[in-house]
Amino acid sequence: MLDVAIIGGGPAGLTAGLYAVRGGGNVCLYEEMFAGGQIVKTHRIDNFPGISDGPDGYALAARFEEHAAAFGLKIEYGAVSELDLTGDPKRFVFNGKTIEAKTVILATGASPRTLGIPGEKELTGHGVSYCATCDGAFYKNRTATVIGGGDTAISDALYLAKLCKQVYVVHRRDELRASAILADAAKKTANITFLWNSVPEAFLGEKKLSGIRIKNRVTGELCDLPTDGAFVAVGVVPRTELFSDQVALAENGSVLTGEHMETNLPGVFAAGDVRNTPLRQVVTACADGAIAATYALEAARVK
Ligand code: NAP
Repeated sequence: MLDVAIIGGGPAGLTAGLYAVRGGGNVCLYEEMFAGGQIVKTHRIDNFPGISDGPDGYALAARFEEHAAAFGLKIEYGAVSELDLTGDPKRFVFNGKTIEAKTVILATGASPRTLGIPGEKELTGHGVSYCATCDGAFYKNRTATVIGGGDTAISDALYLAKLCKQVYVVHRRDELRASAILADAAKKTANITFLWNSVPEAFLGEKKLSGIRIKNRVTGELCDLPTDGAFVAVGVVPRTELFSDQVALAENGSVLTGEHMETNLPGVFAAGDVRNTPLRQVVTACADGAIAATYALEAARVK
């Protein structure tokens, strides 16, 4: 039986794995597709202490994975299902096999929030995207529009401005949420134009995106903005579908944790973007992972 099963291989899960193996536990990390989580979609990470060369998220994720594996972390790839966190031991099915663990760390991260407007579903993959790093190159020398005013939106706009002829940023207020360093850089970039107090009402186009219907929230005016690509960056939604009926969640849908990353269920911990964290950064996800692993190992040892 495992001492600690970690579900999710982003920065929180990989750091939890590193700490748990270094702490001498029998540990395995279960990742759906590939390690790294949301950071693999990030083109430059400038605020992880000690790494000032601004690696892309994919490269940083690879370093995290190599580091944890070098200390003996076992990582298995595939789907987790039938998770039972209420019993003792904890059980779930992984690639058709039942896994038992004394403790579980939930590190399933978050996925991009959708807008829920007409045309969004139909045109996703045909001009509408949630990942500028993945799809930005399709819009080289063309026009792209980013929706949102947070760190993701503004770093996406800066990235796209290097590739595209013109970038629009559509934001629902007249002030950005993004950190000052990103906001200042975007405002100084000649080919970035802001559409303030504006919200998208519909994505336009038959088989591919041709534009966005935008409403000005102050004047009520509607306009159709022609654009080749739309990048939706309006925040994230915690990924709790595997266990939302078992673990206590906060109002915003994230997992409620205490300062040891413990959930309401004994032996179950949560770390990173899936939990009710005040700051979703790589460094805070890593810190969560370290704390969760420390207390999961402690809990496993008294069982
Ligand atoms: P975020 O900080 O939650 O920002 C979401 C943005 O989308 C906000 O500007 C919000 O507007 C807007 N928005 C939300 N719902 C909307 C809707 N239905 N329609 C239109 N606009 C909507 O999300 P994020 O930018 O993805 O960042 C998530 C976390 O990752 C944050 O903690 C962020 O700091 C972190 N992150 C950091 C970096 C970095 O370089 N350090 C890079 C990426 C992400 P309001 O401002 O009006 O609420």
